[in-house]
This record gives sequence, C-alpha cells and structure tokens, in this order.
Amino acid sequence: MPSLRLLAKLAEEHGTPLFVLDHRELRRNFSDFRKLLPRVQPYYAVKANPDPDIVRAFYRMGASFDVASWPEFKLVFRHIRSLSETEQLEYVWNKIIYAHPVKSKETLEKLDRYKPLVVYDNAAEVRKIRDCAPHAGLVLRIKVANTGSMVELASKFGAMPAEAVTLMDEAREAGLTVEGLSFHVGSQCTNFDNYLQALQQSAEVFREAAAAGFDLKLLDIGGGFPAPYDEHVESFRSLARKLNAELDRLFPPPVEILAEPGRFLVATAGTIVARVIGKAVRDGKKCYYIDDGVYGTYSGALFDHCRYPVRAFKRGATEICAVFGPTCDALDTIGFAEELPDLEVDDLVYSVRIGAYSHATSTRFNGFEPAKVVHIHAD
Ligand SMILES: *Cc1c(COP(=O)(O)O)cnc(C)c1O
Repeated sequence: MPSLRLLAKLAEEHGTPLFVLDHRELRRNFSDFRKLLPRVQPYYAVKANPDPDIVRAFYRMGASFDVASWPEFKLVFRHIRSLSETEQLEYVWNKIIYAHPVKSKETLEKLDRYKPLVVYDNAAEVRKIRDCAPHAGLVLRIKVANTGSMVELASKFGAMPAEAVTLMDEAREAGLTVEGLSFHVGSQCTNFDNYLQALQQSAEVFREAAAAGFDLKLLDIGGGFPAPYDEHVESFRSLARKLNAELDRLFPPPVEILAEPGRFLVATAGTIVARVIGKAVRDGKKCYYIDDGVYGTYSGALFDHCRYPVRAFKRGATEICAVFGPTCDALDTIGFAEELPDLEVDDLVYSVRIGAYSHATSTRFNGFEPAKVVHIHAD
C-alpha cells in the first residue's frame, strides 16, 4: 500500500473520500498472474473495477477482457477500434469474451457485427443468438461446485454437465459453433478443490463432446482467484502450481486456456482514505461517523460479503468503536468492533485492499457522491 504520508498528502490535495489506485500493484498482480499461469491468457473481468484507466493499463500490458454488458464491451472495444477492420474482427476473440450467459436481444443485435465470442448455458439463449447474433462463437458454461467461496454464483448460472452435449447439439442445429467450455468456481475461492473438481468435470465434458463430433478448442477457467485479504488466504502461487499440473494433464495443447480474473488483479491496488466528520458516545461505546460508507466505497460489505477494517493515521492506544458511514440509514454501518485510537473530527482513516467490487458498486444514495479516484504510479 502507499505510505501514510503519501495518502495524507493526496487527501490534502484532493479532499476526501479519496479512492487511491496504485498502478504498481496492478502491474505486479498482472505479471504474477502471467508468470505463475504461463498457459493462461487473463481476460480481466471489467465489473470488478471498470475505471477506464485500469482498462487502459491492462490493455497495454497485453490483457484481454471479460465483459458482461454493452457499455463494458464499448469500454474495451475503443482500444481495439484503432486497428484495421480485418484485424479488429480477427482480434476480438483474442481480446474480449462476452461472459454473461444471458443477454438481451438488443445487446446481441449490437454485438453481432463484431463476431463476438459469447457464453451461453441454456437453450433459449441459443435461439436468441441464432436470431440476433448469428456471427457469434459460443462458449458453454457449466455449473461447478462453489463450496466455501465468498461469493456464490452456481445458483444463478451454469448448465448441468449432464446436459452439456445436448446444449451443444442445440447450437449445432441452429448453425452455430461451440468453441469451448467455461465455468466459475465462485468469487474469492479459497477452497482450491473447487478448481480441481471443475477441471475434472470439464475434461469429462470434453471427452463426451469429442465422441459426439465436437471439436472444442478452448477452456475458460473463469474467475475466483483469491486476493490476499488476510494471512489465512493460501497463496496464489500454490493454487497456480496445482492448476498448471492439472491443465497439462487434462488439457494439453493445442487446447487454449483462458481465465477471467477480476478481484485478484485489482483488490490490492485500491486504498480508501476517509475523514471523521462526527463523533458520539452511545451505550458507552465511541462512535465515529466518516465521509464514506456502505452506500459508497464500503458497498462491498453488502454486495460482496467482504469486510474492510478501518484504520487510523494517528497512533495511540486503541479501543473497540463503532464506525458509521455518512448517510441517514442505520444499514450504513462499516463496523461495530473497529479498533481505533481516540480520534477527533477531521482526523483521517483508511482501509486497504479495497480495489475490487467497492467503488464499482458505489451509489449516490442520500446525495453522497462516490469517492473521487486518483491514480498513482501510472506509466
Ligand atoms: C464476476 C465474474 C468474474 C470475475 O470474478 P472474480 O472472482 O472477481 O475473479 C469472472 N467471470 C464471470 C463470468 C463473472 O461473473
């Protein structure tokens, strides 16, 4: 994280709440991902943090992108637009996967001219793609175990592996081509068995598909790669070692391997700096009111089931306090058991590793704007 001195200087210059994005961290996370998973092309899941400067930075580093809406597609495509038209069309699969299994007809119609790579997991989607985006290539998402992941996704998406070949047949009958398989083990997946089981299941589907005459070219292992929020999270390095061994065993080249990391690439790059705007004692406990909260950068507390401890710039003996956000709602509680020294109005506080699913889900509730963003150590 940036030094407290730098954070204080930035807060002085830009005001609070201030969302500080450190590009050195972005570069480090990206290069770790590439280095530790050499066969896997990362498609950054834009929804984790759609800041255009992050997209540009990853694009320059050679990333590809996972998008899940038309605005996200456009956010990435403007970097490809500078290429010639033939390059654009050849390039789009290498650079973008439209990973949402359910798309509106209007979105499919807009996507069609780019010959996109799109994910599906049901028969109704095949009919929509046939009618509205017949030039698309298809990737079938299967449902895999999400056991123990911080954010569970299996209840919303994924075809049962047993119906995979039937869904591929549907696509073939509609004149479409299935290029490969995808899955998602759930976000912040710290139970690495989810990945290993998912690879095993995918290999079985690859075998059944081959027997039915399908030539699957790619496997997309999704997102879920855990950010190091605390010391209990087993290292990415050890996950990567397991993944590499299983990928080589079950999916030797020429199968292409994609992944859709979101959180892993951006979580550690974000720090929020906020200011104490009020103080009270209630039921004998100190309560601080700060200028960012659960409707803002701390929204991950709700949407992402993630906790962000609040720390002070000031030193001193700490006690257990409550910290609240600036809105009128009692839901806007960052924590009832934060450990803080005695603070005054105008003192600064901060939270680290808050780069993913935080600013992206900020609201304007009660008239409070999302935190201002500053980028540091950008190229
Ligand atoms: C959200 C999402 C991701 C990113 O997940 P992380 O856990 O942030 O890595 C990847 N793929 C799909 C389809 C998603 O919905």
